[in-house]
Amino acid sequence: MAFGFFSKKIEDMLPGKVSTDKEDLFCYGFDASSSEGAPSAVVRPAGAAEVSEAAAYAFKNNIPIIPRGAGTGMTGGSVPLNDTVILSLEGMNRIIDIDEKNMVAIVEPGVINSHLQEKLDETGLFYPPDPASMKFCTLGGNVAENAGGPKAIKYGVTKDYVLGLETVLPDGRVLMTGGKTYKGVVGYDLTRLLVGSEGTLGIITKIFLKILPLPEEIVTMLCTFSRLGDAAQTVGRITSSGIIPRALEFMDAESIRAVENYRPFGLPRNAEALLLIEVDGAHATVSEEAEKVASICASLNGDISIADDVYSKQRLWEARRAISPALYHIKPTKINEDIVVPRGKIPEMLHALREIAETHDLLIANFGHAGDGNIHVNVMTDKEDEEGYQRAAGSIKDIFEAALKLGGTISGEHGVGITKKQYVGMELSDVSIEIMKAVKSVFDPKGIMNPGKIFPSD
Ligand SMILES: Cc1cc2nc3c(=O)[nH]c(=O)nc-3n(C[C@H](O)[C@H](O)[C@H](O)COP(=O)(O)OP(=O)(O)OC[C@H]3O[C@@H](n4cnc5c(N)ncnc54)[C@H](O)[C@@H]3O)c2cc1C
Repeated sequence: MAFGFFSKKIEDMLPGKVSTDKEDLFCYGFDASSSEGAPSAVVRPAGAAEVSEAAAYAFKNNIPIIPRGAGTGMTGGSVPLNDTVILSLEGMNRIIDIDEKNMVAIVEPGVINSHLQEKLDETGLFYPPDPASMKFCTLGGNVAENAGGPKAIKYGVTKDYVLGLETVLPDGRVLMTGGKTYKGVVGYDLTRLLVGSEGTLGIITKIFLKILPLPEEIVTMLCTFSRLGDAAQTVGRITSSGIIPRALEFMDAESIRAVENYRPFGLPRNAEALLLIEVDGAHATVSEEAEKVASICASLNGDISIADDVYSKQRLWEARRAISPALYHIKPTKINEDIVVPRGKIPEMLHALREIAETHDLLIANFGHAGDGNIHVNVMTDKEDEEGYQRAAGSIKDIFEAALKLGGTISGEHGVGITKKQYVGMELSDVSIEIMKAVKSVFDPKGIMNPGKIFPSD
């Protein structure tokens, strides 16, 4: 079917909700990865009924649809292929209910993560998953990517908070899974299956999230090191000390200097590495834990300081969240990976990364959620330098091989999308891929739901 006709029909069904303006087609053609494409139309439904109407029509006419939140994905998940329609969920941004009695928040998918955090904060509650993009990514995108964040080390990732979902299937039918209960074992766990499905199984239109009471106290510490190895050893010492920090974030020298050059926060420019560490809980235990963390850091030559007011705490977190933009500022086409290794293997992984950088003659900046073994590996390259870019691209397989050899995974939180699909076979067996494809075909028999993503091309 011609797209012009499709757009016109959808426009008749959902007046004012469809755009084929060049500006829109351009803006919805990329995400935070370096992938790009051009959709044929952008549809902005206002609710599940409209999503269902658009999906049913697309299904009938074999038109591929791509659900999209804020487009902050790092792997091209919401990037359109040719002749596809973007279904933007941004406008479905209501916090429907905060049910304090049952400790459940019900939201539409377009709610920005930090908007929910701010709303909960007013009543002494919180929702732990806090990706560094929390000020601009959507909860629908978080669910679709199973997003993590600094607090994952203690509180887990998105999948640990999703109690239920309303999902519009590719043919327009509405599937309700789970709900307000914290338990439920009737049948297969379809909620968990949909979390992290990267928009390839259906369009999430309502989310039930578990929420928690805010901890009594949070202590935020910054520890700087003049040797990278000491910082890496400190991570293992803290995580095996019986303390579960609320955050244990790592920045190497390149990341520190990139942030300071981008926006000076006062981080020590000459440090080789730093750890941003938080502990939380009841007053009585938190200071004891903070002291224990400080003495571990000191025993490994770390220089520790405690952020003693709200402003200094916020500033440290702003510096942490500025790493990615700062690195993009230097190299807009850098290659960004997010491998995970078992925590105890961080020193070996950092050593391997240094060797890979030398072998391929590259600058690699590393930072991330060290407490989870999750390292964001940033190969600093420029697409305009063709030879350099090829060298950088050639190092990715070595990085993944090193992570897998240490018992890790090639992606901790950014998903597969387009950019990692060619490497999926390095980690998943043929049997896994076969079963996943079979599941996909049950949800999406015509293959119109976010096609060309996750699976390696045949
Ligand atoms: C500076 C920066 C920092 C980041 N830090 C982190 C971090 O700390 N942790 C982390 O996990 N990620 C991080 N990310 C990655 C990104 O923000 C997350 O993956 C986020 O969850 C994507 O949300 P989004 O709304 O932008 O989704 P999009 O990019 O729009 O979409 C992502 C995927 O979800 C699908 N999707 C979106 N909405 C729906 C829906 N309603 N139904 C079905 N499928 C849907 C899309 O089809 C696509 O496959 C970071 C990104 C940036 C740019």
